[in-house]
Amino acid sequence: MLKLTNIHKSFGDLKVLKGVDLEIKQGEVKAIIGPSGTGKSTLLRCINYLEKPDEGKIMIDQLDLDAKTITKQEIYKLRKSTAMVFQSFNLFKNKTALENIIESLVLIKKIDKRSAIEMGMDILRKVGLEDKRNVYPSKLSGGQQQRISIGRALAVNPKVILFDEPTSSLDPELVGEVLELIKKLAKENMTMVIVTHEMSFAKDVADKILFMDDGKILQEGTPEEILLSPTSPRITKFISRLS
Ligand code: ADP
Ligand code: MG
Repeated sequence: MLKLTNIHKSFGDLKVLKGVDLEIKQGEVKAIIGPSGTGKSTLLRCINYLEKPDEGKIMIDQLDLDAKTITKQEIYKLRKSTAMVFQSFNLFKNKTALENIIESLVLIKKIDKRSAIEMGMDILRKVGLEDKRNVYPSKLSGGQQQRISIGRALAVNPKVILFDEPTSSLDPELVGEVLELIKKLAKENMTMVIVTHEMSFAKDVADKILFMDDGKILQEGTPEEILLSPTSPRITKFISRLS
């Protein structure tokens, strides 16, 4: 489904990704954990070329892309197969919940307004916010805004959804509703890569947890393997600090 090989990325002299491999199968959920500043966000951003990797290969959905030779058209196709959910929601403030969700359907997929609205309403039901269709983001709680962002990601019918700390900017009491929605998507076999600090959530939802440190994947394993048999003291320390 998605395979990254030997991804490298530097910002000037700062080497951020130092040869990352990641493979995710259809319907699989992988959680990425690790200290801040180790390149987790950069890695997600490289997957859909919000950042251009310096080196490496990305295979997704019949596309076989090499950072050294990738074309604009290939980047466009790549972006159509992936969707990203950010820590900070990134909703359009001057658009309603429904308009936020259908924006890409109308503008990018060129679906007619009536069909887009029907699809948008289905998605609003799925994220449990049917009654908020005409409400603007400023009138929604953080948890509701994030559920709309997830709805917006679902709208493009992506092969894989990339989550970058989707609950980090939420008040603690609003975290649960967002995690529940992501768990529901996992049950429906959505393919997802989730950067998160929520260890118990990662344990529940992820098929595999990847521990990332200093631009590399230090260990990948089932939640049990990572939590009970970490292969590095850095992982042990990180996990004990969180729980
Ligand atoms: P994480 O998500 O694991 O906290 P990031 O991927 O955000 O880590 O950042 C990794 C490193 O790359 C940090 O040192 C950060 O300051 C640096 N970095 C990230 N984006 C940029 C950028 N656009 N320009 C320069 N440095 C960046
Ligand atoms: Mg980050």
